[in-house]
Amino acid sequence: MPEAKPAAGQDGEGPRTLQIELQTPYGSIKGNLAVPPGSVRLSELAWNAMAIDEKLVGMAVAAEAKQGRLVSCQKGCGACCRQAVPLSPAEAFMIADVVAAMPPDRKLATLGRFAAAKESLQAHGFGDRSLGGAASEEQVLGLGLDYFRLGIACPFLVEESCSIHPNRPSACREYLVTSPAAHCGDPANKPIQSVPTAGSLTEALSKLSALVLGGEPGVIPMTLALEWAMANREAGRERYDAAFLLASLVEFLGTTGGKEKAAPQA
Ligand code: SF4
Repeated sequence: MPEAKPAAGQDGEGPRTLQIELQTPYGSIKGNLAVPPGSVRLSELAWNAMAIDEKLVGMAVAAEAKQGRLVSCQKGCGACCRQAVPLSPAEAFMIADVVAAMPPDRKLATLGRFAAAKESLQAHGFGDRSLGGAASEEQVLGLGLDYFRLGIACPFLVEESCSIHPNRPSACREYLVTSPAAHCGDPANKPIQSVPTAGSLTEALSKLSALVLGGEPGVIPMTLALEWAMANREAGRERYDAAFLLASLVEFLGTTGGKEKAAPQA
């Protein structure tokens, strides 16, 4: 793995492509990936990587369909949006950018839902447990079991639909089920069959974030994404060579394939 270095400004460079070959449990992905010119922030890299995630998810969904298991997630079902959605640090910056770009009214309403979610967490004694910033995936999963029981909706859930659907993070893209959609609202009594992913962009972006920011790979619960991004805003402004980040990300992605997503078990 090359050493991580911020890029000097390289504006004005022409388009570049990166040849990739990524092995997944469902086959290999080969092709040329468009590389944004010059340097990018981690937020921008995360956004560019969503196209790769769509490809990975598509492969997993197609493989399930071949076995007769069809995705049952439905528009208007927000059951999984009451889980503690894990974000890589790069995606926490991306989500902060999404909120910053909202029109004033929408931004105000969204910030209000973030504040209400945090207040509810604190009222249930989660304040001290969940304010640690980036945590390990194991810690977040443990926290997630208790979190789901609280029924606190993601601040982006509006009328049981995702209000940032095109900009949703990788954890949301990768969490799909083939069991009846109604089961997701009652995980204590109903079995949930999730689609095994061809790779985890959340995990790969967490590793990439750790490579450039330092420290161990970790994730941040969605409800704390904005305050984490604010606390780390200097790091969020740092720019890195886009080709270096994408090449490193593809390398990390190759180490994350074929996992079934854990659903909360009450
Ligand atoms: S970002 Fe959208 S899809 Fe993801 S948990 Fe929030 S509302 Fe649900």
